[in-house]
Amino acid sequence: MTKLSYLHEPGVLENLAMRYQLNEIYTYTGNILIAVNPFQRLPHLYDTHMMEQYKGAALGELSPHVFAVGDAAYRAMINDGKSNSILVSGESGAGKTETTKMLMRYLAYLGGRSGVEGRTVEQQVLESNPVLEAFGNAKTVRNNNSSRFGKFVEIQFNKNGRISGAAIKTYLLERSRVCQISNPERNYHCFYLLCAAPPEDIEKYKLGSPKTFHYLNQSNCYELDGVNDAHEYLATRRAMDIVGISEQEQEAIFRVVAAILHLGNISFAKGEEIDSSVIKDEKSRFHLNTAAELLRCDAQSLEDALIKRVMVTPEEVITRTLDPLNAVGSRDALAKTLYSRLFDWIVEKINISIGQDPTSKSIIGVLDIYGFESFKANSFEQFCINFTNEKLQQHFNQHVFKMEQEEYSREQINWSYIEFIDNQDVLDLIEKKPGGIIALLDEACMFPKSTHDTFAQKLYQTFKNHKCFIKPKLSRTDFTIMHYAGEVNYQANLFLDKNKDYVVAEHQALMTASKCVFVSALFPPLPEDSSKSSKFSSIGSRFKMQLQSLMEILSVTEPHYIRCVKPNNDLKPAIFENLNVIQQLRCGGVLEAVRISCAGYPTRRTFYEFLNRFGVLAPEVLEGNYDDKVACQMILDKKGLKGYQIGRTKVFLRAGQMAELDARRAEVL
Ligand code: ADP
Ligand code: MG
Repeated sequence: MTKLSYLHEPGVLENLAMRYQLNEIYTYTGNILIAVNPFQRLPHLYDTHMMEQYKGAALGELSPHVFAVGDAAYRAMINDGKSNSILVSGESGAGKTETTKMLMRYLAYLGGRSGVEGRTVEQQVLESNPVLEAFGNAKTVRNNNSSRFGKFVEIQFNKNGRISGAAIKTYLLERSRVCQISNPERNYHCFYLLCAAPPEDIEKYKLGSPKTFHYLNQSNCYELDGVNDAHEYLATRRAMDIVGISEQEQEAIFRVVAAILHLGNISFAKGEEIDSSVIKDEKSRFHLNTAAELLRCDAQSLEDALIKRVMVTPEEVITRTLDPLNAVGSRDALAKTLYSRLFDWIVEKINISIGQDPTSKSIIGVLDIYGFESFKANSFEQFCINFTNEKLQQHFNQHVFKMEQEEYSREQINWSYIEFIDNQDVLDLIEKKPGGIIALLDEACMFPKSTHDTFAQKLYQTFKNHKCFIKPKLSRTDFTIMHYAGEVNYQANLFLDKNKDYVVAEHQALMTASKCVFVSALFPPLPEDSSKSSKFSSIGSRFKMQLQSLMEILSVTEPHYIRCVKPNNDLKPAIFENLNVIQQLRCGGVLEAVRISCAGYPTRRTFYEFLNRFGVLAPEVLEGNYDDKVACQMILDKKGLKGYQIGRTKVFLRAGQMAELDARRAEVL
C-alpha cells in the first residue's frame, strides 16, 4: 500500500478490492497487515507447505501473510531477545479469532518440538482454543462463532526459542447472554453441546431438547450450519482432556451448565402476601429440585435464596420477600454469576495446567479483542469495548508516530512538521481519576439514592464544556462520546446496574455451602471487611485496571498490527462493499496511520528512484554529472517546490507534491 504513489482513501480501497477479487486477502500498509475475511476456506493458504515457506523469510519477500507477521515477531524475539506482541483487531466477524488461531498454529510450528508425543505445551496452547470457544463463543447476527470475551495469550519461550509456557488472560465475558437472547442468535455453544451429549449424560443431567429450556428457546435458532453439536460435545471433552481438565472436573463443569438450564426453567407466581412469590407449578418445582441436586445444595435453601432477602439492621433481622419479577431477576443473577465464575475457573485451570515458565525472558503476546462498536442502542458493554479501543488506538498512534520519527531521524531530516494525532482527551473523559465517567459512575453506584437519571445529570453538568462529550438534545439520560472512530450515543439507564460487581449475599451463602467442592470453590468466602462498602468493586474500575496492566505489558513489547476487515455483512465470499470497508479502515486506525504519514511526508523516494522518474523534467541536470543528492535538489528547486526535505538517501515530499511533479512530467512526455 505504501508503494502507491498517492496514499489516500480511494487509493487504499481500490487496491484492497482488487486484491480481494484475486483471493489475495492480505495486504501490507506500512507495517500493518490488513486481512480481508474471505468467508471461504482457503486450505492451501495455511498448510504445512506454506508454513515452511514463510519460516525465516524476510518480511515482504513473499506475499503478505499472517505467517509473515508471526515470523517477523518470532525472529525479532530471537534476534533482539525482546518481547513482541501481535495485536489483532477488527469488528465482530472480521476474522480476528481465526487469524489468532493461525498465528498460534504458526508459532507452535516454529517453537514446538516436532515428533514429541503427548500433551506438549504447544498442543495445550492450541487446544485451549476449542475449550474457550465452547464456553465463551456464541452465534450472533454478525458471526456464527462470535467470541463474547477478549483474550490475550502470552506465549513464553525459553532461550532456545522453544515454547516453554503460556498464560491466557480474558476480558469481560458477556454475562447477559446466559439469560437473554433474541432471534436469530444463540446462547453459549456449551449449552447446545450438552443437550446433544450421549444418552447416559443426558439422563444424568436430566436434559432434553434445547427447545424445552427457557434460556435457549427465547430464540428460534438451535442449530448451526455445518456444525454437529453431538460431535462438538465429544471434541470439547477431548480438548478438555488435553488442556488438563480432569474427568471429575469435566463432570462438575457440565453439571453446573445443566443446573443453569434448569434454573432458567423455574417460574414464579404471586404469593399470598403482597410482594411475595412462590414456585409456580410442579414443573418449576421439578427444575428447582434438579438444579439443587446438580449444584449439590439443599432445595429449600435454593428456593429461599431465590425469593427471599434477609436484611440485618442494628436493631433486628428482617426477612423480605421478592415479587415474581424480582424473583426472576434473582434467578437470572444467580445463573449469570455461576456461569461467569465457571468461565473464569476454566481459564484459570488452563493456565495452571499449561504452566508458566518463570525463567522465560521473552514472550510473544497475541491479542484478540473486540473492535469498536456503535449500534442503535449502546450500553455499558459498548462503553467498555470502545474504551478498550481508545486505549489501543493511543498505543497504535504512538507507535506509528514513533516509527515515522525514527525514519526521519535516520534520514536526518527535520520532523517538526508532523503533528501528533492524539486521543488523550477522550481517554481523560472516560478514565481520569477523579472526575472521569468511570469515576462518576462508581460514585453513583456507591450512593444509595442515585438513579440513572441523577447519574446522567451529573455527567451533563460535569462535561458540559468537554469537547468530546455531547448531551443529545431530546434525551434526558443519553450521552454521546466523540470517539476517534466516530460518535457513539450511549443509553445511561442500565449503567449503574451493570457496573455493580456484587453477588447477592444469599446466593453466596448458598453456593459456599454446596456439598460439591467444585461448586463451593467457585464461591470462596468473602474477606470479612469487604462486605461493607469500604471496598466497593465495580466492573468498570476493574476493567480499567485490567486494561492498564495489558497496556503495561504491551508497552515493553515490539508491536505488530493486524487489522481484520469484514468485506460484507452477508458473511459471503467475493462480495466487497466499499462503504462498509472504508468505515472499518477508519475505525481501525488504518487511515489514521495514513493520515499521520500524510501529515508529514507521505511520499519518499530514494534518490535513484526520484531521478529515474523525474529526470526528464531537467535533462540538463542529468547530463551535468552531479551527485545524486544535489541533482534531486536542483530538480525540485527548478520546479519551485517548497517544504520538501532531502534526507541522507531519500527525497521526502509533502502531500500533493508527487501529483504536482507527475503532472509536469506528463506535460513533458
Ligand atoms: P471475529 O473473531 O473477528 O469475530 P472470526 O475469526 O470468528 O471473527 O471469523 C468469523 C468467520 O469468518 C469464521 O467463522 C470463518 O467462517 C470466517 N473466516 C475468518 N477468517 C477466515 C480465514 N482466514 N479463512 C477462512 N474463513 C475465515
Ligand atoms: Mg472472535
